[in-house]
Amino acid sequence: MTKTITVFKGDGIGPEITDAVLKILDKAGADLNYEIFNVGAKEYETNGKLIPDEAFASFDKNKVLLKSPITTPIGKGFRSLNVTLRKKYDLYANIRPAKSNNAVKTAFKDVDLIVFRENTEDLYVGVEEQIDENTVHATKIITRHASERIIKDAFEYAKAHNRKKVTCVHKANILKMSDGLFLNIFYDIAKNYPEIEANDKIVDNTCMQLVMNPQQFDIMVMPNLYGDIVSDLTSGLIGGLGLLPSSNLGKDYAMFEAVHGSAPDIAGKHIANPTALLWSACMMLEYLGQNDVASKIRNAVDEVLNEGTTLTPDLHGTATTEAYCDAIIAKL
Ligand code: ATP
Ligand code: MG
Repeated sequence: MTKTITVFKGDGIGPEITDAVLKILDKAGADLNYEIFNVGAKEYETNGKLIPDEAFASFDKNKVLLKSPITTPIGKGFRSLNVTLRKKYDLYANIRPAKSNNAVKTAFKDVDLIVFRENTEDLYVGVEEQIDENTVHATKIITRHASERIIKDAFEYAKAHNRKKVTCVHKANILKMSDGLFLNIFYDIAKNYPEIEANDKIVDNTCMQLVMNPQQFDIMVMPNLYGDIVSDLTSGLIGGLGLLPSSNLGKDYAMFEAVHGSAPDIAGKHIANPTALLWSACMMLEYLGQNDVASKIRNAVDEVLNEGTTLTPDLHGTATTEAYCDAIIAKL
């Protein structure tokens, strides 16, 4: 039976890259129906809600969401929409694979790592308190429950995909209690996977090591905020944010999105790279068991990247989003 999924179109470059991706999915023969919603800042201005009730209801029902970037209006007291979605649907595992593509020129070769970012707690959820006029406290929350499930997922993934090593990233030398708990749980769980190497690195050293010797990393697991920062770094290793996809998985729901934001600086210029969202859609197809369609798309993208004649400006080309999209379709 054809699967119905929910699509959020978002802000900035969101609508352009969503259109490109849906066109490619269609031409590749993805067995999908779509319920498409405008969400975000523009939707708020016209209809008074960042995410309309019908959009939530659609995701509630379909349980699979392809989401383009959304701008959270600053300074109006809004909670980040990403945080809202991740919390509401308990999408606790944010999985961000960074793999070098020979066709993309970067300073780094043979990077093939996956960041498992805890997605529901830590400083990133933004629990802040004004103590007095000159003092603000932000709360870092680390729980056994949330840590256990993301660390377990990282090891289970490593086992299922024949990966050799899982690295825990932390700052437990300073945050002895919070990151200390995360690190202790990591080594407890590692005992159940004797065939997989387990090690840990402090987050600052990790950043240095990632640019000195990124090939040493395989699966990486870390609390939310480090995951946010480190994964932008890993996108730089493989050619930039335009190439970093992600899945956000929970027990009942799954959301697929590019790691990048809405890129207002290039919105409407038809130069956004849709690959990160397209590869996120491929992760979605694989999640739904449509692996053949996913590989077909992945191969077509590889061909276009390899030819190197129709690339978007972030990859040093001159093609528009639409021309790049058509080049992929021609290879399908
Ligand atoms: P957020 O807070 O949502 O993470 P951000 O401020 O980190 O957003 P992004 O929107 O991720 O910013 O963009 C960072 C930079 O990368 C911008 O200069 C943007 O133009 C560029 N960029 C992001 N995504 C793409 C893309 N798909 N194609 C080309 N350039 C991109
Ligand atoms: Mg960012």
